[in-house]
Amino acid sequence: LRAPRLLTGEYGVVIEDGAVLIDGDRIVAAGNADAIPRAGDAEEIGFAGATLMPGLIDAHVHVCFRAGEDIVAHPQAVSEEDAYSQAKTAARLVLAAGVTTVRDLGCRGTLAQRLRDAVIDGRADGPRILAAGRPITSPKGHFWSIGIEARGAPALRAAVDDLVGEDVDLIKLIATGGSLTPGTDMGRAQFSLEECTALIEAAHDHHRPVAAHAHASEGIERIIAAGVDTIEHCSWMDHDDEIGTPPPDRLAEMRDNGQMIVIAGPVPDALFDARGGIAQPTGSEPRSVARLLKLWRNSLQARRMGVGTALGTDSLFGQFENGHDLAYRAEALVARAGWSPFEVLEMLGSAGARAVRGTGHIGVLAPGAYADIAVIDGDPATRIADLHRVAAVFLGGTRVA
Ligand SMILES: [Zn+2]
Repeated sequence: LRAPRLLTGEYGVVIEDGAVLIDGDRIVAAGNADAIPRAGDAEEIGFAGATLMPGLIDAHVHVCFRAGEDIVAHPQAVSEEDAYSQAKTAARLVLAAGVTTVRDLGCRGTLAQRLRDAVIDGRADGPRILAAGRPITSPKGHFWSIGIEARGAPALRAAVDDLVGEDVDLIKLIATGGSLTPGTDMGRAQFSLEECTALIEAAHDHHRPVAAHAHASEGIERIIAAGVDTIEHCSWMDHDDEIGTPPPDRLAEMRDNGQMIVIAGPVPDALFDARGGIAQPTGSEPRSVARLLKLWRNSLQARRMGVGTALGTDSLFGQFENGHDLAYRAEALVARAGWSPFEVLEMLGSAGARAVRGTGHIGVLAPGAYADIAVIDGDPATRIADLHRVAAVFLGGTRVA
């Protein structure tokens, strides 16, 4: 593949006159076209005006839900097979939008594992899927309607064992309440430090990383101490659900432990203008937008202190039915929260790969990595909104869009 620009997926790296040499499902060489060995029988595909970059990584999705669905009523309102067919449709759309890896952080039953395996076997079109299966929560805690409800260290360890039996790639812990589950408290932890530690140790014994949903500072502090791998949302909320400022010593601890933040969560409609673009600042933002921007700026502060950050849509698919949710987030982070395009592109590339345990295999254009490539018409390192202009997508060396 050849194009005027190539982004390797590492922070700040742009190569002019870029080329990627692919053999089978892997990249053999990537860089300036003059430095790429000529394989005698290789077919060259050129993309005028385009940028070659790693297929995007969405580190936090829920494939079996659609936007607007009630997660508490879901098991009654939507049949298992309908949820699976929604997931298949969503998977096709996100792939066409340039997203080649997603991490599913909570599904009904084993739907995400089923879709993951269908993609691997060629029975469904979609990105690579890392599946956490059913989330582990407290009795009647956030996501209880589809999760495993457990209390106390022995029950939490048993829940991990059950999920390993269901062939999950990682464990999702619901460490605090969540906005989508009535009766739960976003500003409070759902588990003690001892419970978090027991669950995370059990998961690590099975070589499964732990992604924890956490809004409340109380819950965030416990999962940092308990050795969590990624913190989803990481909202630093007090007991009154007000978003605070992350304590620098906790951020330093996360950085030193290699614990990452995954920016995720619903985006309020007020962030978009009437034409579906990112709304301009108004001077007096609606509360929903002000809270989101504070979260995003907190995450930027963490990133600039050296804490790894990745990006997820938390779809609840379908805010945009074309699958471009991730591109809109990227655009909004730059337009409204002070992130640079390279800082965002790193989250979609090498940092995203680190968050989903795919370093070296995905999120980079480098020898040995999967040939998962998004061809973008334009120059996203200069104009992040160009991420909407997907010219082609390759998954494991095969053109899929
Ligand atoms: Zn989520």
